[in-house]
Amino acid sequence: MAVERDYYEVLSIERAANGDEVKRAYRRMAMKWHPDRNPGDPKAEVEFKACAEAYEVLSDPERKQLYDTHGHAGLRQRPGHDFSRMRPDDIFSIFNDIFGGSGGGSSHGRRGPVRGYDLETSVEIELLDVLNGKDVEVAFTRRDVCGSCEGSGAKSGTKPIKCPTCGGGGQVAQQGLGGMFRMVTTCPNCRGRGQVITEFCPECRGHGRVPKKRKLNVKIPAGISDGQVIRVSGEGEPPPPEADPAGKGPRGDLHVVISVTEHEAFERVEDDLVTAHDVSFPLATLGGMTTIETLDGLRKIEIPKGTQHGAVITIEGSGLPHLRSPKVRGNLRVGMCIRVPNKITPEQRELLEQFAKTQTNPDEEIRPAGKGVWKKIKDSIAGS
Ligand SMILES: [Zn+2]
Ligand SMILES: [Zn+2]
Repeated sequence: MAVERDYYEVLSIERAANGDEVKRAYRRMAMKWHPDRNPGDPKAEVEFKACAEAYEVLSDPERKQLYDTHGHAGLRQRPGHDFSRMRPDDIFSIFNDIFGGSGGGSSHGRRGPVRGYDLETSVEIELLDVLNGKDVEVAFTRRDVCGSCEGSGAKSGTKPIKCPTCGGGGQVAQQGLGGMFRMVTTCPNCRGRGQVITEFCPECRGHGRVPKKRKLNVKIPAGISDGQVIRVSGEGEPPPPEADPAGKGPRGDLHVVISVTEHEAFERVEDDLVTAHDVSFPLATLGGMTTIETLDGLRKIEIPKGTQHGAVITIEGSGLPHLRSPKVRGNLRVGMCIRVPNKITPEQRELLEQFAKTQTNPDEEIRPAGKGVWKKIKDSIAGS
């Protein structure tokens, strides 16, 4: 399973923190970990992005409640931005208002159409789906262009007007204390957009974007691993409304993170599967046929005579398909667990005692099992 961090821990806040505390904590942490302030420290960028992800969830009451109730699983149908593949500048623009609008200028300097942001969602599948591949329906909600105002944020019949405070430039000059110096800051009235809306669109309350539900079929290929990402291009957000109100430019992508649930019988080691199988003491001693479980179903295999506890039988081609060439499959490694009867009848006892008497050198028959079956199985894979 991919590692999922606790959002409250990431922002170092209490679970009871209110909206303002969440915002303050995010601002503090984002400043602390901003890559510009931590040059050459790869951990900083990872932390910076983790903080953005945590803030995006905890600052949205609906998503926060899903997270508080169901943890990360609760957010599966409500994808957020995929910050891991985003530039720090873009993260600043998303949370523009928190950082005093300092990131908003980036849209002016861009050339060509601005692309929408990527979204990330996750899908849980089973090991059997890794064998066969699976078509899954991914249902999610994304911020989309508001149909009522076509993204402008203005009530129908009205249009945004040039900002009277800054005259449309998006910046204002302020006189410092006693007129000693001049500062140029982002216009507080229009937050740098240069336009203001006189009457908000009732549908999106002026944002130009509304949450819309979307369903998609996503093909998960056989051989996929836990934590791998499937990119569905053009299914992310439309370009941000500051840069492209009508959202006509290219959309971002949807990243579907695959989470494979653990199987109770099989453990995965790359394309191989590892399992354990119980064998009775007489069968292990005398050899014979037994039925084992494989991911494809039950199968008969031969146990060689004198099989020891911890011995591994390899069944070629019964592992998982290789992602790039699914016709090639890994192997199934079956570790033998020799079971000793814990209840015997008087007759069996007599037979065993007779057997014991016939052994010339009992110690020779018994070898130490080593450090457990699993270690032996894993070593056998490492050595092959
Ligand atoms: Zn609208
Ligand atoms: Zn303005």
